[in-house]
Amino acid sequence: MSIYSDYIKSVIRTVPDWPQPGVNFRDITPVLQNSAAFRKLIDSFVHRYQEMEIDAIAAIDARGFIIGAPLAYELGCSFVPVRKKGKLPFKTISETYTLEYGESTVELHSDAFREGDRILVMDDLIATGGTMLAACKLIERTGGIVVETAAIIDLPELGGSAKIREEGHSVFAACS
Ligand code: AMP
Repeated sequence: MSIYSDYIKSVIRTVPDWPQPGVNFRDITPVLQNSAAFRKLIDSFVHRYQEMEIDAIAAIDARGFIIGAPLAYELGCSFVPVRKKGKLPFKTISETYTLEYGESTVELHSDAFREGDRILVMDDLIATGGTMLAACKLIERTGGIVVETAAIIDLPELGGSAKIREEGHSVFAACS
């Protein structure tokens, strides 16, 4: 958990039954609208990762980009987008994973990393963990090393972070 965990959590808005009945959507836009809260959020990740020798941040489409880009700037490392199917223009590799209903595919440029690069994988939220694990698989296929997976919010009751840990990856969340 981050140094500003309680504060960040207090600014995130929960929207019940969106985008479908039964889902409590964690809306981060109030954090982004509040410059002090946004700064504290990015600072909490900087605090965590500044000594970890991260070569690149692999940020997941789309809200992972919002935190991944300023963090890459602050850490002085590269930024690599992990995108939904069909969005990346160059040669890609892809991973398909199961959702509660149906499946989804994420893609990575095949030249995104060098062998042995130390990668931090970022998204806004971990629910079932499927998206994060698919991103980790893509990174490992390119020869990159997943140093940690990170999110603003972990929903541990959905079991995703436990599953990611079972697969051998470390998990860090700014709040849960
Ligand atoms: P999962 O693959 O099940 O861990 O889902 C994580 C992805 O789905 C993230 O990219 C989130 O943006 C999105 N997501 C899943 N559940 C929620 C939720 N309750 N609130 C906001 N985003 C969610």
